[in-house]
Amino acid sequence: MTKKQQQALRTSNLDLFFNLRPSKAEMQTPTELPDEIDLTLMYDKLNRRYFDGELPKVKIEWSKRMRIAGKCFVGHKLIRLGRKYHEHFPDEIEDTLKHEMIHILYPNHGCEFKLEAKRLGTSRYAKEYPGGKSPHKYIYICPNCGQKYYRHRRIYSASCGSCSGGGYDARYKLKLYWSAKSKRRMK
Ligand SMILES: [Zn+2]
Ligand SMILES: [Zn+2]
Repeated sequence: MTKKQQQALRTSNLDLFFNLRPSKAEMQTPTELPDEIDLTLMYDKLNRRYFDGELPKVKIEWSKRMRIAGKCFVGHKLIRLGRKYHEHFPDEIEDTLKHEMIHILYPNHGCEFKLEAKRLGTSRYAKEYPGGKSPHKYIYICPNCGQKYYRHRRIYSASCGSCSGGGYDARYKLKLYWSAKSKRRMK
């Protein structure tokens, strides 16, 4: 098992067991995104340019799960950026960072926020990865107990967590039950 697969296992909900073989899309190298040190440098630069360097030091980190572009946790001095969103829109990292920096001063998208957004030339609205709103795209079913599993992504060779003992068990391999693409139930 590759490192990436192990990681996928750790981050997936552990209610089913995977026999992981990455899909073609997953094997393509993901978009290179700046690391957290580069993001901090970007933050410092923007802080000097737009705020006379007066915003506090914050920690900036990527979130794998978040589907929105960014979120500012003022109390924790933390800005979290959505990896998924920026893998699709890597050119918007600075824009998102500016937006979240304004939230350090103004928590809501009110009038003051809008004025600042105009001054910094950034978007006034929260951005979200387009796929983020769909509840799920696939439903899988266990051929033994009939439990359904709702997923955003295709899964390959996973077995039911309730029926399999302590790992992947081919006898309880999940079957595709419904997919948003076909809009119909499959036998
Ligand atoms: Zn916002
Ligand atoms: Zn089952």
